[in-house]
Amino acid sequence: MKYELVIGLETHVELSTESKIFCSCGGHGKGSEPNDCVCPACSGMPGMLPVMNKKVVELAVTAGLMLNCNINKYTTFDKKNYYYPDLPCAYQITQINHPICTDGCVTLKTSEGTRDVRIKQIHMEEDAGKLVHSGNSSFVDFNRTSVPLIEIVTQPDFRSAEEVVTYLNKLKSMFRSSGISECEEGAMRCDVNISVRPEGSTEFGVRTEIKNMASFEAIERAIKYEAQRHMDALEYEIEELVQETRRFDDVSGKTFAMRNKETEADYRYFPDANLMPIIIDDAWLEEIKANKPTAVDEKADAYR
Ligand code: ADP
Ligand code: MG
Ligand code: ZN
Repeated sequence: MKYELVIGLETHVELSTESKIFCSCGGHGKGSEPNDCVCPACSGMPGMLPVMNKKVVELAVTAGLMLNCNINKYTTFDKKNYYYPDLPCAYQITQINHPICTDGCVTLKTSEGTRDVRIKQIHMEEDAGKLVHSGNSSFVDFNRTSVPLIEIVTQPDFRSAEEVVTYLNKLKSMFRSSGISECEEGAMRCDVNISVRPEGSTEFGVRTEIKNMASFEAIERAIKYEAQRHMDALEYEIEELVQETRRFDDVSGKTFAMRNKETEADYRYFPDANLMPIIIDDAWLEEIKANKPTAVDEKADAYR
């Protein structure tokens, strides 16, 4: 049987701000030694309160404008609760109920013509720290904790690895030329959701999610491997496909199951009462629009 690939992406981009999202420590790439960009707030000391970095809102709105999103006037933060040593508060501040941007669209030019990919939403959140393993010891570096991120979630509109890479390159050139992010390897990380379905079918198949992919080349290899695994599973019934989270091993070129897909309820999301809702009024929105640089890609479109 012939199958069609269906892919949706969740892309995390570290923003190029001077400081972190909720404190005045240096932002992305500012530390030179482990834990030299850390304060009581971003290292999770009891009783510390977050203070919103205005620049993060402006860069998230700028990204939303570039991706033709609705900019929501009212936007709020939520706590996503889980325990892991790189997350000192045991919750991540993110947005689930009222994300800053929704319903966008980006047009890709591929070898097969153009394709529109819908953007479901863009939300703001803080990054986690980094674990470093060495021999029998593990170390934690909190320099990255609370570095601002935007997460861009697409609808499942990609149909090939080529389209995915075209999209990622487009985001990268847009974001670099507009000062949103340098998008170096590691500053742009994707969760890749994949399913396959018989050609002509309108229903979606079972999807798996490959977590935390940083290199475009690896993303392409991972998609090809995972799509083939799905097709073989359906065609020869050698294994049952289950909705789960997987990781890609660069050396073997294969994906491996990590855990069953967690659901929203697993994280006990609730509104972060320490942060006021952000209201983006017309005057502020106009100011952000006026300051929005023209991205390379838009410039190219204007000359076509
Ligand atoms: P969840 O709440 O489980 O994270 P979302 O609806 O937010 O699910 O979707 C997460 C990502 O998975 C989105 O990028 C979406 O496009 C993608 N996705 C959803 N269903 C499928 C599918 N059947 N095949 C491929 N990708 C999918
Ligand atoms: Mg999701
Ligand atoms: Zn700090």
